[in-house]
Amino acid sequence: MNLKEHIRVIPDFPQPGIRFKDITTLLNNGPVYKEVIDHLAQRYRDSGIDLVAGPEARGFVIGAPLAYALGVGFVPIRKSGKLPGETIEVGYDLEYGKDKLAIHKDAIRPGQRVLIADDLLATGGTIASTLQLIRQLGGDVVGATFLIELSYLNGREKLGGIEIESLVQY
Ligand code: IMP
Repeated sequence: MNLKEHIRVIPDFPQPGIRFKDITTLLNNGPVYKEVIDHLAQRYRDSGIDLVAGPEARGFVIGAPLAYALGVGFVPIRKSGKLPGETIEVGYDLEYGKDKLAIHKDAIRPGQRVLIADDLLATGGTIASTLQLIRQLGGDVVGATFLIELSYLNGREKLGGIEIESLVQY
């Protein structure tokens, strides 16, 4: 399958000069969305994963169905102030801005094997923070998986030694 055919590129969103990779066109296509999730589930089925963690909001549309397909739990990583229970937080830089991410303190037990899932790896800021949150709780990050990787932003370099996979690269 050529996934790029299903990803729409929108120039100058959300700021001039950014070519936004819009996955809503892919999500809108049932058979393609299913194929993507099935492919990822197949890839990680034998990796001994206990939990999938995904940052809001597009990390949910990849991570939650993947967790379901693997029969494991899903951990939402949210913007500061959204999670109702006790949280830990970490600040991070975006390709276009700054923010804080949070995780419930009891979402991961020490030693649990966690796979990170998101739609897109850009500068790596979001995932570096996600990694930090999971590790602070004692989670063992097995890897990170993305539909899209913007290779020219070198996000991988921020993520140390973790195993990173992406389905399409720009
Ligand atoms: P990073 O922290 O710079 O790696 O940015 C990754 C986050 O920003 C992901 O959670 C994406 O959802 C979002 N993002 C950045 N650029 C794009 C884009 O071109 N299309 C869709 N999402 C993007």
